[in-house]
Amino acid sequence: MRSNGASGRPAPAEFVEFEIWGARGSRSLSPPLSSIANYTSCYSVRAGADLFVLDGGRGLGVLSRSLSVEGRFRGVERVHLLLSHSHMDHWEGLKDAEWFWSNGNGLELRVLGAEEAIETVRRGYGHPAYVPLEVLAARTLRRLNFSTLEVGETRRIHGWRVQTFALNHYSGGGKNKNRLDTLGYRLRSPQGFVVAYLCDHEPSPATAQDEERMLEGAHLALIDAHFADRAQHAYGHGSQEHAASLARRHPETLVLAAHHGPTHDDRAIRRAHARHGKGLPNYAVAEEGMRLTFNPRTRRLGAPRAISR
Ligand SMILES: [Zn+2]
Ligand SMILES: [Zn+2]
Repeated sequence: MRSNGASGRPAPAEFVEFEIWGARGSRSLSPPLSSIANYTSCYSVRAGADLFVLDGGRGLGVLSRSLSVEGRFRGVERVHLLLSHSHMDHWEGLKDAEWFWSNGNGLELRVLGAEEAIETVRRGYGHPAYVPLEVLAARTLRRLNFSTLEVGETRRIHGWRVQTFALNHYSGGGKNKNRLDTLGYRLRSPQGFVVAYLCDHEPSPATAQDEERMLEGAHLALIDAHFADRAQHAYGHGSQEHAASLARRHPETLVLAAHHGPTHDDRAIRRAHARHGKGLPNYAVAEEGMRLTFNPRTRRLGAPRAISR
């Protein structure tokens, strides 16, 4: 973001930085109570001038603030926000994003997602509920646009590759069960870093093949681990047990349990991790502040680094 007025060279394009800003599912914990995750879904992948953001939950407020003040983001010119689906916990952070409140910051923002999600976001911020994002963007961003994605699509954006898959997600149950058009993403950076994003998602036999396709050869995967055990799967969400099973099948992929259930405290999350992650060095809990760097020369991710905020 250019508004900080700082000068200097852009971040080196060869390294790719992945970071976690919001790993809590469904609602934020306010006041913050957890040392693992307090904010709703938001993860970023940065290389050169491009910042890809996986979901715009309340973690986006924290990310956008860092973007405006931290030197390592200086070269970022374009933000690509990939929405998984229309539930509010995946886009509520947009109104808190610093880039909508800082005049002439020069950023370009593109919001991508299924038609249902894009329409919901635009309606959600429309008058009289709020101020349309286009109005917020008029004096702040260089450009704002929305783009609709279909299931099974491959989109190339400035040398990055975005592939979409259908996830299994719904709210309620029985007569009140409501399906949502939910996209899983497989994102590949120009340097070859591959991340698979599967939130929100309840695994089923019908989705097993797509899960394999998304994780095959990925360096990193974020898996809906709302619950601890498979027997608890409900409301379109998965478990640490299932996430750990994916880690077992993909030893080269670092699998992170994400979208932690809103009523699960840190001890419960860590206990489930200890139980299901035994003997799995490539299985960890997604924690806010966790940052990973991909080195394209070694084609490896560095060890997770937790940064306390
Ligand atoms: Zn969610
Ligand atoms: Zn949802």
